[in-house]
Amino acid sequence: MDNSKYAAPSSDVGMGTRVVWGGEQVRHPYNATQAPIVVSAAYGYDDIDNWYDVALGKEPGFIYSRMSNPTVEVLEHKLCELERAESAVAFSTGMAAISGVLHTFLACGQRVVSTRDSYGGTNKIFEEFLPRMGVQVTLCDTLDTEQLEREIAKGCNVLYLETPTNPTLKIVDIRRLVAAAKRVGALVVADNTFATPLNQNPLALGVDVVVHSATKFLSGHGDAMGGVVCGAEALMAQVRHYREINGASLDAFSAFLIIRGIKTLALRLRQQQASAQLLAEYLCTEPLVESVNYPGLPQHPGHAIACTQMNGFGAIVSFVLKGGMPTVARLLPQLKYAHRAGNLGAVETIYGPARTTSHVENTPQERQALGISEGLVRVSVGIEESADLLADLQQAFAFVRSQPGAAPVHPDPAHSWVDAGA
Ligand code: PLP
Repeated sequence: MDNSKYAAPSSDVGMGTRVVWGGEQVRHPYNATQAPIVVSAAYGYDDIDNWYDVALGKEPGFIYSRMSNPTVEVLEHKLCELERAESAVAFSTGMAAISGVLHTFLACGQRVVSTRDSYGGTNKIFEEFLPRMGVQVTLCDTLDTEQLEREIAKGCNVLYLETPTNPTLKIVDIRRLVAAAKRVGALVVADNTFATPLNQNPLALGVDVVVHSATKFLSGHGDAMGGVVCGAEALMAQVRHYREINGASLDAFSAFLIIRGIKTLALRLRQQQASAQLLAEYLCTEPLVESVNYPGLPQHPGHAIACTQMNGFGAIVSFVLKGGMPTVARLLPQLKYAHRAGNLGAVETIYGPARTTSHVENTPQERQALGISEGLVRVSVGIEESADLLADLQQAFAFVRSQPGAAPVHPDPAHSWVDAGA
């Protein structure tokens, strides 16, 4: 990766400055102040020798946009600045990035250790696709660090982590598990989508490869899909080679939207996580709520670890409603300032039950085995005024409580950690 023409803000500037200036070209073509959207599929050469040198990577330049693209390259450099990585590779979606990484670093006869709680699509790769390729997959109880250490010590090629987890917001002790993985020479991969590079930099904690769904907080507006992988150039060269052949490259227009979104990430997240803390604290007092998951709550079991590895607790809250799905179906339509949709990280607040969002790919039996209760609702807190979001949620609960038969008759059996009112 040629970094010379891209701006690297000095190391002492804050993240709010870094998201704006990081990775932008020192001078964009035409003296444009914004990265141009280059939609060309191929790049032409009159000099055959020069063309050949570029194709071999001996000279900087572009050949074909499945391999590399000028707009996508700006995004990749921006991510390097945010994750303080040597190199980055962008993909068409977060899942393309995750499957790209797992296919790059795992082969038949090898072993991956991970946690049971990870995004539903990632879980599908572990349960369905990797075993078909002859990769041995061991999924441990996410919060049982000793079990994870025992399984890692048996020998593995890749340790795959996600923290905070989607949608139950469990916190994994990155430093401790990295130490266990290093003892057996395993590569450590971490999904940093929920934390964002502002709240957590896994590479600084010893992780080798960071993945993001750029569809979420990075793009921030629910209007682009993408994924990014970051790490040392020696590793990213392998990931880039896989992408070139697999073909799940990011298109220039999506790259532009994600670049534009990232510039406001610090501003957005500040507002979003202040509201998330407020909503989480309110939900703890709500009689219809059985449990609340938010690492910013002092009683959250991962709070202490989160304080050691995160700079903020993020903008996702989840809660289990008493009465399960019937209560979910009553509550969500009452919300005025919310999408009911399967996405997160956008400027608008988004509510969704796990069974139609993070774990839509899983069967009810699989969700039950994963401890994903049917009454679990995930809130991706938007940038609206905190007071308005709180009032909206309060009026929705008040409505449900006022309805005949709304009282929780069957408390949800899949109990989470934080008791309502605690
Ligand atoms: N990782 C996490 C934590 C996610 O929440 C998601 C999607 O929700 C993904 C990865 C997959 O990203 P995408 O939908 O961009 O493929």
